Amino acid sequence: MPGLGNPIDQTPLVDPFGREVSYLRVSVTDRCDFRCVYCMSEHMTFLPKRDLLTLEELDRLCTAFVQRGVRKLRITGGEPLVRKNIMWLFRALSRHLDSGRLEELTLTTNASQLPRYAAELKACGVERINISLDTLQPDRFKAITRWGDFKTVIDGVEAAENAGIKLKFNAVALKGVNEDEFEEMIRFAHGRGADLTLIETMPLGDIDGDRTDQYLPLSIVRARLMDRFTLEDIDYRTGGPARYVRIKETGGRLGFITPMTHNFCESCNRVRLTCTGTLYMCLGREDAADLHAPLRASTDNEVLLEAIDAAIARKPKGHDFIIDRRMQKPAVARHMSVTGG
Ligand code: SAM
Ligand code: SF4
Repeated sequence: MPGLGNPIDQTPLVDPFGREVSYLRVSVTDRCDFRCVYCMSEHMTFLPKRDLLTLEELDRLCTAFVQRGVRKLRITGGEPLVRKNIMWLFRALSRHLDSGRLEELTLTTNASQLPRYAAELKACGVERINISLDTLQPDRFKAITRWGDFKTVIDGVEAAENAGIKLKFNAVALKGVNEDEFEEMIRFAHGRGADLTLIETMPLGDIDGDRTDQYLPLSIVRARLMDRFTLEDIDYRTGGPARYVRIKETGGRLGFITPMTHNFCESCNRVRLTCTGTLYMCLGREDAADLHAPLRASTDNEVLLEAIDAAIARKPKGHDFIIDRRMQKPAVARHMSVTGG
């Protein structure tokens, strides 16, 4: 198993706006066992398997970022747990938790594979998991995910709880689909001691429907929730873009991720790596750096680290998402399943 390689450069990664990049999200596959309506079209064309980085290469890349000061790694996808032999990568990366270089190894999942993997993830040092769950109604769940099975997902939630993993739920707010359920979802999450974060749909990738039909500004959701609950602003941050409130009646936290109504770029500390070795410095922009070629150019990390430095020097100040009825195209052509959530 590769170590930290030649320890030539351990200086932190700082972008031109003085933001230290300490958080790497890694999409380990673009494939998924669901076809959520806001994320994918029903008939997706996925990357040919030969274009994927191997698990060893993903480990080498993550390790290079850890060497340069990344303290938090989130494994995502597509559905990360459908990648073959994925536990090898978690086991490999857990050595950076053991060494203390990495503070957190975590993942975002649809929970369908958690009945199988929860205990092993916990053994690899995964203490917290984000679970995407947009509804608590089995029929609706089928309509949103197209291919998902609600019961399996709830079994996955329970498997993670039984393994002692702390959960956070993420729900995409969808106009006319789940907007009548947020109160119940708050009670569901908070009743299990978990936070709930609501997310606005982002214009990423072509889907079968019209995104303007799905978009529900969270400012509206928040205003409605204030009729039901007492929302107290709190300073709590998780290193992600969510802004949190505490719900006085449940004692739990509710997060809002509002890329469309609130620009969260000024405190952005993260970059995203795809399963083909492309590094996106901003979720909302097309600019990307290829790390695949520098990775394969040599077995020591010098060329790779130079490429990473050059990429971070290009990290933009912010994104400019817009959902516009007139511009029928998504703001960014790639799907969320390519860069991960
Ligand atoms: N399959 C895993 C899951 O669903 O948790 C991980 C990948 S998924 C792309 C990560 C997150 O992105 C999910 O919470 C999903 O709801 C969210 N997502 C996908 N497409 C989105 C979009 N267009 N706008 C906002 N969130 C989106
Ligand atoms: Fe799959 Fe996650 Fe996209 Fe749903 S949101 S299709 S579970 S990658």
